[in-house]
Amino acid sequence: MLLASILNPKIQQEEHTPRNMAENHSPHVLIIGAGMSGLTLAHQLKQNNITFEIFERDPDGNARAQGWALSLFGQALSDLEATMPAELGPIDQTSHLLPLDLPAQFVFYDVTRPGMRVGVKSDETGKIIRAHRQRLRDWLLQGLDVQFGKRLVEVNESAEKVTVHFEDGTSATGDILVGAEGTRSVVRKHILKGQDVMKPLALGSIVGEVALSGDDFASQLKLAHSGYIVMNSTLGSDDQSAIFGALNKVSDDGKTGYYYYILLWVDKQAPLTDDKNPSWTVGATSEQLAAFAHEKTKSYPDHLRGLVDKVPVKGYKSPGFQLQGVQLEAHQLPAGRVLVVGDAAHSMTPCKSRLQRPLYARSELIIVKSVVRRASAPSPTP
Ligand SMILES: Cc1cc2nc3c(=O)[nH]c(=O)nc-3n(C[C@H](O)[C@H](O)[C@H](O)COP(=O)(O)OP(=O)(O)OC[C@H]3O[C@@H](n4cnc5c(N)ncnc54)[C@H](O)[C@@H]3O)c2cc1C
Repeated sequence: MLLASILNPKIQQEEHTPRNMAENHSPHVLIIGAGMSGLTLAHQLKQNNITFEIFERDPDGNARAQGWALSLFGQALSDLEATMPAELGPIDQTSHLLPLDLPAQFVFYDVTRPGMRVGVKSDETGKIIRAHRQRLRDWLLQGLDVQFGKRLVEVNESAEKVTVHFEDGTSATGDILVGAEGTRSVVRKHILKGQDVMKPLALGSIVGEVALSGDDFASQLKLAHSGYIVMNSTLGSDDQSAIFGALNKVSDDGKTGYYYYILLWVDKQAPLTDDKNPSWTVGATSEQLAAFAHEKTKSYPDHLRGLVDKVPVKGYKSPGFQLQGVQLEAHQLPAGRVLVVGDAAHSMTPCKSRLQRPLYARSELIIVKSVVRRASAPSPTP
């Protein structure tokens, strides 16, 4: 999460501080997007008695699948546990492994050394929560009054206020606007005056989904409780491809595991694509996506390509997708009353997120605390 204006040294100067922030001890904050970033920020504001409204385009909290599972560990997890209100209950209840009593576990496999198995698991030396996204969102939604069915379409900013306009014709006005609406952020476009900083990554990707039970479920749990990466360590960086196989969630009776895998490969042509001329995966049929995945992994040992074999053709969603990256630097952003956080500021792409995510998450919380402190600080005496 990047609270851009705070990172921008210009905002440290008094003349750049929006007038109301200096005059008003408790600015009203508008948050766009009730995803992980927006909801986390909302809780921080609520705990600090800063008034806010949070708007989400979906008609309700269950309107759409929230994607798969998400890893929380290290300092990011400790910070989250320490700063979220106790009324939410333990974050452990979001685990994707429930009702199974198993620790989160990730394993790395190399197709050229199939016997090798290295990885990490949640234990007394370090806690890992692999959160099921819907559970995590439901956990974060507790105690918050999200205004659903509000799709932001336009932002108007003046020296005094910021007003947001929604697709349904309504609007809202506040002192600070935080865009937490993901990679295709309207707020970011407003800040950058229409400039688009979202770029296709040099990665091809295909996703397959399947429900497994009995021996098939047991085999996958044996590979890793939560997720595993399969790579070929002998290939050069330009020729790499990898499978990320993972458990999304378990059925209530514990007998079925809902799995997905993402096949990723280096695709140097992908950055040359755009919405009008997208990568071939975007226009491909389920049959074409399945055939490509089988071809790409045909040399993998059988037990490491189990998900590719088990996913039925209808388990490949058509149209497919192209991974996009967003990376903003503080110097690109003007100081002001409009900020962006989370994927709106820097998307967490699979290739770099594993290492950087805990780092970002930690700085996100520190920065959010700093905004909260500044927003509620008494104004300087004239
Ligand atoms: C394939 C893939 C795998 C990933 N795996 C992981 C993982 O294992 N672990 C991990 O930590 N991260 C993972 N990520 C990254 C993770 O998904 C994001 O970093 C995270 O969801 C960002 O949260 P956010 O709240 O910033 O944005 P989002 O989760 O995108 O939430 C944005 C919200 O804003 C709403 N919205 C959008 N536009 C508007 C609008 N105009 N008006 C109002 N509301 C709007 C959306 O409906 C949504 O609810 C993965 C990403 C991808 C693509």
